[in-house]
Amino acid sequence: MKLATRTTRITPSPTLQLSATVKALIAQGHQISDFTAGEPSFDSPDAAKSAGIKAIQEGFTKYTAVTGIDDLKQAIIDKFTAEQGLSYTRSQILVSCGAKHTLFNLAMALFESGDEVIIPAPYWVSYPEQVLVADAKPIFLPSEERSGYAIDLDKLKAAITSRTKALILNSPCNPTGGIYHRETLEGVAQLALEHNFMVVSDEIYEKMIYDQQTHVSIATVSPEMAKHTIVVNGVSKTYSMTGWRIGYAAGPEALIKAMGDIQSQSTSNPTSIAQKAAIGALREGQDFIQMMVQELDKRRTTIVDGLNRIEGIQCPMPAGAFYAFPNIQGLLGRRFQGTPLTTPFAVADFLLKQAKVACVPGEPFGAPTHLRFSYTPTIEVIQQGLKSLAEAIHSLE
Ligand code: PMP
Ligand code: GLU
Repeated sequence: MKLATRTTRITPSPTLQLSATVKALIAQGHQISDFTAGEPSFDSPDAAKSAGIKAIQEGFTKYTAVTGIDDLKQAIIDKFTAEQGLSYTRSQILVSCGAKHTLFNLAMALFESGDEVIIPAPYWVSYPEQVLVADAKPIFLPSEERSGYAIDLDKLKAAITSRTKALILNSPCNPTGGIYHRETLEGVAQLALEHNFMVVSDEIYEKMIYDQQTHVSIATVSPEMAKHTIVVNGVSKTYSMTGWRIGYAAGPEALIKAMGDIQSQSTSNPTSIAQKAAIGALREGQDFIQMMVQELDKRRTTIVDGLNRIEGIQCPMPAGAFYAFPNIQGLLGRRFQGTPLTTPFAVADFLLKQAKVACVPGEPFGAPTHLRFSYTPTIEVIQQGLKSLAEAIHSLE
């Protein structure tokens, strides 16, 4: 059997793979402090759970409209209007099986051979892979830790060609925690309009933002820019509903229709009961968000302070999302039992085996000197993990 060549272009999601490996080790009885999972540890909000249960009991268990039920689209539209002053019609909204699926539909509908898609680095692991599945070419735009991973507009300008089809923004960013400020987004918008490319704005971490900073969507820069933006979001992170699989997009009608057509020939509608649960979350989940973000903020400072106390590790305070993204250059080259640890992969493997601490190496995020720690575990787990980490690192030659 000869598989399609596109399968050779991509690798499986390393975050999901690693997370599954660690969960399996824990299930076998290993005591591991797990910082791999990109999902909040909180239970989903009651409003979501009861709406889901009610949907089952009322027999709302059949196919729905492929692109999502009207009530959910309305809840999404109302959210955009209330929070960002953006107005969309129902034909500009597509509900899919998680934001990853939303982005996949988008890649299929918008990118093709010959297209270039600019991706600021470090980036979430799935962006380049989805661009490659769609036969297009990812173009990486490096960003600097010392600027909080801001977009350098001169570098962006230099990366734009006649083949540039889109730029993928992710603010707050997985894995850096960086956020984009309005002035930068205005500069990006000017370039997008001048060179006529789309901006994909993945805002899945919009609510996880700290120190009184605010989330800004590039779609709000100007009405013209809103027409060049497709906003991607979902309930996975905001409402700790990763397993329910509801994501959504808002953008130009022609693009949303094309994405919906692709969805109609692949998954059909997102799960009926999960759509009802998402309405519960969007309509009644505001207190939940506040509680979760306050708790994540405590975990954020605990892990960042702890990491910075370990020699060889430097960790900036992330502005958003729920990832600590330390620079481990000071550890690279140090030896364990005579063998040098030369890459984040090697360091992460050492930490898993010797410290029983699981984190994700930076390479698949385009960051060959970093590790990613998801700070969603409880403070107790974080403290235990930091202690083991410090001891193991201390033992390096
Ligand atoms: N975008 C980013 C940046 C993410 O980290 C994730 C997490 N998996 C997603 C999109 C997709 O989330 P989901 O498919 O669970 O909605
Ligand atoms: N986005 C999360 C992460 O980066 C979940 C895993 C995934 O979807 O790849 O860990």
